[in-house]
Amino acid sequence: MIIDNRTELIACPYCFKSESSLWATENGFTAVKCSECGLVYVNPRPVEELIGNAVETGIHSNVGHNRTAIARRERSKKKRYKKILSSIFRDVWQNHRKISWLDVGAGYGEILQAICLLAEPGSRIEGIEPMKPKVKKARELGLNINNKYLHDILHDIKDKYDYISLIHVYSHIPDFRKYLKEMKNILEITASCVLKPVI
Ligand SMILES: [Zn+2]
Repeated sequence: MIIDNRTELIACPYCFKSESSLWATENGFTAVKCSECGLVYVNPRPVEELIGNAVETGIHSNVGHNRTAIARRERSKKKRYKKILSSIFRDVWQNHRKISWLDVGAGYGEILQAICLLAEPGSRIEGIEPMKPKVKKARELGLNINNKYLHDILHDIKDKYDYISLIHVYSHIPDFRKYLKEMKNILEITASCVLKPVI
């Protein structure tokens, strides 16, 4: 239910029940806990148009501070991701088989850089990122990142992916049921998915 042009009241995005209790407040927003399934979600939340604008520009126009989500590239992230992914997918790297990997919300490309260092040469390693300044920087580093959303590439993909990663992305998706279905369409049957929500 739209409250005004900027915010809407929603039911639980997972079980669609409306009963909930206050969980926390921050920056003028409220997180509630669903009485049925226990999911914690922001409610009321910005309307989808505002979420989309914030994702593309990094500027959250509906919060009362001047911080943005553009941030900057952090060299230490590449090293940290390489260490973590090296351990999680040790069997993959030891297999020396070419793989295909898509990083969704690839940011400045730190995940892709780590995968490039770990994967067999000749692997297909790609990213998509809606925020233009990040894409520009990542492409200057020679990374294969495009300024697109997942739904933009759904019908263009000729070969499905073996792996897909969403790091600090999943918790920003307004309709994650629809999103998971879209992801399924571009993944091989035996594919793996790496999800790390913001905590
Ligand atoms: Zn629920």
